[in-house]
Amino acid sequence: MSTKDLFVDCECGVRTAVSAGMAGSTLTCRCGQTIALPALGELRHIAGRDRHVTNAAELVNKAINSGRLPGTTCVFCERPSSREIRCEVVCESSAQKQTFLGEQGDLLASFLRILFPLPSVSASDEPQTVGHNTIVRPVIRLCHSCQATLGNPRETKTLRKLMDMVPEYSKLFREYPYAEIHFVNATE
Ligand SMILES: [Zn+2]
Ligand SMILES: [Zn+2]
Repeated sequence: MSTKDLFVDCECGVRTAVSAGMAGSTLTCRCGQTIALPALGELRHIAGRDRHVTNAAELVNKAINSGRLPGTTCVFCERPSSREIRCEVVCESSAQKQTFLGEQGDLLASFLRILFPLPSVSASDEPQTVGHNTIVRPVIRLCHSCQATLGNPRETKTLRKLMDMVPEYSKLFREYPYAEIHFVNATE
């Protein structure tokens, strides 16, 4: 990783690229917030971790966009199945969420996104980034009889178990162990 990958995230959701020489100093975000930059080691750590998450998320999106995932067979019994479980994984990509503004900061970030929408990336392999978070939407094939055995995918525990059966999805959790999983829907 080169030092040109260093960045800092503001509570408003805006990411600003920084140079190694700026470590330990402060900068002013375009929202007006003053951001204290950590030491260079910490900046590198943040950049490295973010890159891992992005890579894992990109891998998932590539696999889904190319049709390689969810494939044509049930994730558990490997018999042909057209039944799909759709979910959403929210990977918090900043090393630590600033707690200064907390919930209000998130609201402010949502508001700013309405005022200044980011270019649409829905058709690309680039994971969707919302504020500090990277969101991917994995799809899993699971037949009815395996669901009866494994449990309800609406429950996070079951969903996580299913996702761990798919290498691309489990990589996501290795890179980002605290990712949140949400059930979206399932086909009949
Ligand atoms: Zn800002
Ligand atoms: Zn099955």
